[in-house]
Amino acid sequence: MFQVRTTSAARRVANCSARFTVIKSASRGFATVSNISPTRTHRVVVIGGGAAGLDISHKLLRSGKFSQDDIAVIDPAIWHHYQPGWTLVGGGLKTKEELRRPLNSLVDPKFKFYNDSVAGFSPKDNSITLGNGDKVSYEQLVVVPGISINYGSVKGLSEALADPKSHVSSIYNYDTCDKTFDTIQRLHKGTAIFTQPAGPIKCAGAPQKIMWLALDHWKRAGLYDPSNPSSSAVQISFMTGMPVMFGVAKYNAALEQLRKERGVEGYFQHDLISIDGNKATFVLPNEKEPVIKQFDLLHVVPKMGPHTFVKNSALANEAGYVDVDDGTTRHKKYPNVWSAGDASSLPTSKTAAAITSQSPVLVHNLLQSLEGKTPEAIYDGYASCPLLTEYGKVLLAEFKYGGEPKETFGDWFGIDQAIPRRSFYYLKKNFFPWVYYNHMVKGTWGGPKGWTN
Ligand SMILES: Cc1cc2nc3c(=O)[nH]c(=O)nc-3n(C[C@H](O)[C@H](O)[C@H](O)COP(=O)(O)OP(=O)(O)OC[C@H]3O[C@@H](n4cnc5c(N)ncnc54)[C@H](O)[C@@H]3O)c2cc1C
Repeated sequence: MFQVRTTSAARRVANCSARFTVIKSASRGFATVSNISPTRTHRVVVIGGGAAGLDISHKLLRSGKFSQDDIAVIDPAIWHHYQPGWTLVGGGLKTKEELRRPLNSLVDPKFKFYNDSVAGFSPKDNSITLGNGDKVSYEQLVVVPGISINYGSVKGLSEALADPKSHVSSIYNYDTCDKTFDTIQRLHKGTAIFTQPAGPIKCAGAPQKIMWLALDHWKRAGLYDPSNPSSSAVQISFMTGMPVMFGVAKYNAALEQLRKERGVEGYFQHDLISIDGNKATFVLPNEKEPVIKQFDLLHVVPKMGPHTFVKNSALANEAGYVDVDDGTTRHKKYPNVWSAGDASSLPTSKTAAAITSQSPVLVHNLLQSLEGKTPEAIYDGYASCPLLTEYGKVLLAEFKYGGEPKETFGDWFGIDQAIPRRSFYYLKKNFFPWVYYNHMVKGTWGGPKGWTN
């Protein structure tokens, strides 16, 4: 009884208090009660300090409309990773250590940084609960915690990845992205299989980018002859749960042509479900019999999906993503909730490049909303995928909703971006990592629109 009254008293204090009020003093007054969580209130709470969270929170701060601790960022991570660079690590072009930074070094001191995880949402009360049980309330909430990688989707995968002697790796993980290059270097003959799962993943081009780099490595080492693959020391297969090489027709045509020209065997709608020693088992839709393949090198991309704490919340759509409007990025049911990036329901490719176009829209609309105005900025679905097709060349896919190409350099110089080019390679290898840490995470990069304030 006493506890209940105390808790509601604490809530009243929190609700009436000015911003950022920490009501520890209220709980201190009732020293015998141990289960009262301090509630802190912020004008904007951003869940996730990844590509989207850092870009959006810093863009909000740069609007000049927020003071110390008005904006809170919540993320349990110690390190922030430039994940698009893990493909370069897998290809031996960068070290994984040079692509990460301590997360707290990227968070502006004007933010309140909670180095904790979010466990649940109470959108009706405008609050969230942290992993330690504390509540944090908000006027506006930005939900950008990315997605999780489901290693359990492939039986035997975790064990195979952890075994340094196995020839199984994945660029989708900090711990194993460098193992990928080891396995590529160690293979002198045999069958190399590169997989992609059915369903949404981060950067749907990356599973084949690493294959094209490996192919080029073996070609340069004299182990693979694209004009005579069957008599080469190494044979290469791309086994994908998807029906095509790439989801945008224009680039799919170019990549399918490359696959055929280079003698890579394509297995479509083949979804990897288990690994046992050097055998990989795949299932096909409407086929009872699985397909079992023997391998000497296996590069695996596991299935991915929304975090459980998002999926099980009132904010999720049926698939478990934060259910926002495709144009405004505003939640369909809770108007003070916003999302972008991988965690969002935005029906486009899950890439950092997409975030460069989503975040200015989200920030503009959120600021409008704080002023009681109707959100008017509209995201057109822009996303990009710099597809490494060999060492020294990249096909730069850029597109918007409906799989319609939206090519920056095509518009500027009239060139066809489906043709792999050396200049795009330097964008991917040097410029994008540089602009990411020097500008995007600081909120000053607008992707194809260039620098913002
Ligand atoms: C191998 C690989 C290659 C890629 N290649 C490219 C590419 O070439 N080009 C491109 O544009 N994109 C690429 N991407 C995709 C890109 O990295 C992601 O789309 C981007 O990082 C998504 O940003 P995000 O902020 O939505 O999620 P993330 O950057 O993943 O950040 C999510 C953050 O949320 C935090 N979080 C998780 N759970 C919680 C919780 N419970 N509470 C609070 N915080 C939480 C995490 O710690 C993390 O810091 C690639 C990704 C990979 C893995």
